[in-house]
Amino acid sequence: MKKNIHPDYKACTVSCACGNTFETKSNVETLRIDICSACHPFFTGEQKIVDAAGRVEKFKAKYNLNK
Ligand SMILES: [Zn+2]
Repeated sequence: MKKNIHPDYKACTVSCACGNTFETKSNVETLRIDICSACHPFFTGEQKIVDAAGRVEKFKAKYNLNK
């Protein structure tokens, strides 16, 4: 790699919204994420809807699906 043009590639602590933390490498020291490999539905096999704006709830309420 060309010298002095790349940011530092250093150890990085990632903390997920589910409480899981793990180490990786990045050009920042800490990262906060919403989904990690411990809670992502692909890895857990559970259904989980990532719904920040409450749009799923609105849809369910509209069509009376909350029973
Ligand atoms: Zn997680």
